[in-house]
Amino acid sequence: MDMVVRTSRAPEAGETLFGQGFALSPGGKGANQAVAAARLGAEVAMIGSVGRDAFGSELLEIMRQEHIDVRHIAQSNSQATGVASIVVDGEGENRIIVVPGANIELGPADIQALEHVISGAEMIVMQLETDLPMCEQAASIAQRHGIPVILNPAPARELSQEMLRHVTYLTPNETEAGILSGIEVNNTETADQAARILLGKGVRNVIVTLGSKGALIVNESGNAQHIAGFPVQAVDTVAAGDSFNGALAYQLTRGVALEEAVRFANAVGALAVGKEGAIPSLPKLPEVEQFLKE
Ligand code: ADP
Repeated sequence: MDMVVRTSRAPEAGETLFGQGFALSPGGKGANQAVAAARLGAEVAMIGSVGRDAFGSELLEIMRQEHIDVRHIAQSNSQATGVASIVVDGEGENRIIVVPGANIELGPADIQALEHVISGAEMIVMQLETDLPMCEQAASIAQRHGIPVILNPAPARELSQEMLRHVTYLTPNETEAGILSGIEVNNTETADQAARILLGKGVRNVIVTLGSKGALIVNESGNAQHIAGFPVQAVDTVAAGDSFNGALAYQLTRGVALEEAVRFANAVGALAVGKEGAIPSLPKLPEVEQFLKE
């Protein structure tokens, strides 16, 4: 749950200020990605954990309203629902503290118990706001059953070679591609270099998202392709990457070729940045189809 405070400036240590506004906004990368795919028409089951508190109940209810299967979302007795405390100052600058809470309570043993859920899926989508050994276990189970894995390595963390070998599509943004590859990424050339370093570590396909510039695909044969973004007036870039990942999963499970899937995901990302908020900004299929026709 995102707790967003608007203030003219951030307080100093020991100082109390009056802010200009407060909003609770359902979010979290996993939830955003699940809703993004579900809104487009994908059948989504979410694995995760919330606390036994008001935020937990609200998030579960939101997932249900989006027709997401919540049977595998645990409710922790000891940990609170994960939150992000976000202070936005008068310049629009964010200061964010994430408290993962229940999110990191699921471990490898929990995911092992859900092997049947993974083996019955057409695709697994993961991000890194959860326990890393749990993600590694999920990726390894998926690999064993031949289920493709999209890993959105956000927030960027060091990943083992074994984990990277189990990833079918790695989708870093420029910052994450930079951290994972060790080189600075700020354009298609440097994204290409970073992607090749990651391919060298065993990932099969790397898709670097480039904000308004779209995305760069470097596939398992080493072929690179830049798929241009859609020019839009960006209102709020929150959930751009999440909407991209949800859309990519939706397209790939329908058997769409990678370049076409990325073009569609670029359209969904562009629509998401054109609206305020995370989950409220995620488009439904007819809106995307209309946008692609224009
Ligand atoms: P993240 O949100 O993870 O930082 P990006 O900023 O790379 O990721 O955005 C993800 C995708 O969203 C991009 O690949 C692009 O398709 C779309 N997107 C993001 N920002 C814009 C923008 N300003 N204009 C058009 N599309 C955008």
